[in-house]
Amino acid sequence: MSKYLQVAGFLDNSGANGTGLRSVLFVSGCTFHCDDCQNKDFWSLSYGDRISTDEIFKRIKKNSAITDGVTFCGGEPFQSAEALSELATMIKTEGMNLWSYSGYTFEQLLNSNDPHKLNLLGKIDVLIDGLFVKELFDESLYYRGSSNQRIIDVQKSLSLGKVVELTF
Ligand code: SF4
Repeated sequence: MSKYLQVAGFLDNSGANGTGLRSVLFVSGCTFHCDDCQNKDFWSLSYGDRISTDEIFKRIKKNSAITDGVTFCGGEPFQSAEALSELATMIKTEGMNLWSYSGYTFEQLLNSNDPHKLNLLGKIDVLIDGLFVKELFDESLYYRGSSNQRIIDVQKSLSLGKVVELTF
């Protein structure tokens, strides 16, 4: 049976949340509450619409002829890891590229005892990790807001057992 996600927003083809044109899913719910977060409305788990993973995937597939991949944003995607893992499986089965943002660091996710977080991490190609730190904000950075955040090649990092960062 399909799982449900609380969805704060969806962009059919955005050029701002990863390489190329991407479908971007904004998931509601984030307990981190960073200062100057740009998506404060999305902190509440009740914000937005409850939508099944099947329905979201249909919309992603509809765009797939013109998009280069999918990006999960938030809110905090890894606080909805169970349903997002299911959606990530559908996306990867189609051979699509998958990025995700997270306020958790790669190490925190890897060392968490939460099977859903680990499952989701294992399906992602690129992770932009870490909290937004307003003192480290730098508008010249690509795909991230503050310089503490890293753009990580997840599959390479998992296979080598150390963080492999991508530079843009
Ligand atoms: S983790 Fe992201 S969504 Fe959550 S408060 Fe920080 S910047 Fe906002």
